[in-house]
Amino acid sequence: MALVDLHLHTTASDGRLTPTELVHLLARQGLQVAAITDHDSTEGLAEAYEAAKAYPQLTLIPGIELSTDIPGTEVHVLAYFINYDNEDVQETLREFRQGRLHRAMGMVNKLRELGLEIEWQRVQEIAGDGAVGRPHVAQALLEGGYISEQKEAFTKYIGRNGPAYVERQKLTPREATELIIQWGGVPVLAHPSWVADLEPTLEDLKEAGLEGMEVYYAKYSEELIRELGETASRQGLLPCGGSDYHAVGNPGEPLPGSMGPPLEIAERLEELATKRARAGQ
Ligand code: AMP
Ligand code: ZN
Ligand code: FE
Ligand code: FE
Repeated sequence: MALVDLHLHTTASDGRLTPTELVHLLARQGLQVAAITDHDSTEGLAEAYEAAKAYPQLTLIPGIELSTDIPGTEVHVLAYFINYDNEDVQETLREFRQGRLHRAMGMVNKLRELGLEIEWQRVQEIAGDGAVGRPHVAQALLEGGYISEQKEAFTKYIGRNGPAYVERQKLTPREATELIIQWGGVPVLAHPSWVADLEPTLEDLKEAGLEGMEVYYAKYSEELIRELGETASRQGLLPCGGSDYHAVGNPGEPLPGSMGPPLEIAERLEELATKRARAGQ
């Protein structure tokens, strides 16, 4: 088991545990450092910090995961230590979440045109206060008996090239990286196996301030982790990672701490954020 997990979701986006429930689990899993990285939202952080007061051995890192679309695929960029108390940052995040709302509505409409009669209101109920995402749409499809497991929603309908997919607002990975730098955060490329032209993308994003990439990702094989570790080292990027835990409840879903980088990597991330904050003064 790892001591560090830098990729976790809560009900503030498409995770199924509240921030409090997740923090209890993180402590039970013996984690020493953990970053909550909800999609386009930092709304879970305050509650998580409150819950973490009961566990002095556990340090939380504030994180977020931004989604971007490029032709044919999508790229997610994680960020650590952004200035999430800043009102401009929150305004932009609210806009991103508004975009998610329109996009999810669009997907529901397309699904209905395909004869899958799910209700938008139900999707909203499932998402609750969280940033709405495709897993919430998938859950509505599951409840409607149109699919037998969440994954099927992606392979059949709402995957990146599926018939009911709707693109999000155009934000390129480079723009997301620049935004994170502007917000005082440390940008890290998430699950790099999604990116076809990995090294050219890394070189482009490094110019915008990329500092790390996920290597220790729970769903990756030992071989892929080794390969990505070499890529990170060649590119001078910090090898990060974690479980990307959503508490979906699928058999075999990797739990928090099932994979993660060494403690030293978390320390390096914090040093970079501190250095950046000092330089910005
Ligand atoms: P969204 O934020 O709406 O673009 O949805 C992305 C989320 O959908 C990811 O964070 C995963 O939780 C989930 N997801 C993406 N691809 C799949 C897949 N193939 N099977 C199951 N869940 C997926
Ligand atoms: Zn997710
Ligand atoms: Fe992701
Ligand atoms: Fe994620």
